[in-house]
Amino acid sequence: MIYLDNNATTRIDPLILEETTSAMHLFWGNPSSTHQIGQNAKKKLSQACSEITTFFGIRQDEFFFTSGATEGLNTLIRSYISHFTKAHIITSILEHEAVYQTCLAIEKEGIEVSFLSPNKGEGAILPSQVLEAIRPNTQLIVLMWANNETGAITDIPNIASVAKRKGIAFLVDGVASLGKMPCQLPDGVTAACFSGHKIHAPKGCGLAIIRDKTFFTPLIIGGPQQGKKRGGTENLPAIIGFANALYQIRQHAETNINNMRRLRDLFENALISSLQGTKSIFAGSRICNTSNISFENVDGETLLIALDQAGIAASHGAACSSGALEPSRVLLGMGYPKKIASSSIRFSLSRMTTLEEIEKSIEIIVQTVTSLRD
Ligand code: PLP
Repeated sequence: MIYLDNNATTRIDPLILEETTSAMHLFWGNPSSTHQIGQNAKKKLSQACSEITTFFGIRQDEFFFTSGATEGLNTLIRSYISHFTKAHIITSILEHEAVYQTCLAIEKEGIEVSFLSPNKGEGAILPSQVLEAIRPNTQLIVLMWANNETGAITDIPNIASVAKRKGIAFLVDGVASLGKMPCQLPDGVTAACFSGHKIHAPKGCGLAIIRDKTFFTPLIIGGPQQGKKRGGTENLPAIIGFANALYQIRQHAETNINNMRRLRDLFENALISSLQGTKSIFAGSRICNTSNISFENVDGETLLIALDQAGIAASHGAACSSGALEPSRVLLGMGYPKKIASSSIRFSLSRMTTLEEIEKSIEIIVQTVTSLRD
């Protein structure tokens, strides 16, 4: 099977798998215990924390581990709004469900939310749109750095400077950008969330960065772990794996990014030139691994199933409550008609994707689309 669905999740890196499983054997103690077994675990936890501080250039008290980015984003959004009686949040219709659904839920609870739509021809929200949407009671801006469906990159540095100038908290969903572009947090970004399973680490570990703790209240209350920012015994094996994945990014980011971009471009150009009525869906700059392609006169869901049977794993749209696939809210939000959104497939590469896999995929996709059209 050729795996081209790395924005959904990634295969664990073999070295990280080994380190994580050996941590389960060797460092199974509770880092909060004072005996040697606990203290050995605590030492490993501290080493992992050092990688986080080095990678992001942040202090030890400016982050905490979560179960994943969904938990981090929920925690931080709810934490901010809990401090205000009449808050207004700016976000967008392009966000991942972790932000979008949370904002819909808090809107029902009485919080004012502006869901910005991208301007025509854009794949991301612009700083000028954020500036225009600011109200006297705006307390928080929540936007993604890179879009998981199209790869479009948001101009986070310029939005951060707007947020800083206006004194508004700015939470960034950095999940899709990590490992696919430089992710040094600019001044003005007050909080950010990331996820281990998108960068070849195990599931069950995310990271919430919180540089300004003025309006922070933990969601999960329990023991004094993680400076009381999130109660509960730490998931040490997954944390060790996550730290290792960051280390790999720090060591090899440039090579891996160039490689993914080269393969993605080769893949996309070959499909567009071999199949008429095939169009790459993106606008503005985008991360190196994502290719969202619409195949005219082909139903995306049917194509996805045919590709699965032919040996390619990709993705399309979003599952609705009945289990069927709905056209992507993100593509519709970018102004694409339902017909295009329904015929689009997202292919996402990882640093493990090979040239052979890409060449084989091109062959399979051309054959499959041609026979579906016939
Ligand atoms: N944000 C983006 C952009 C994502 O792609 C995802 C996962 O698909 C999430 C947030 C949620 O991450 P997690 O699966 O770690 O909860």
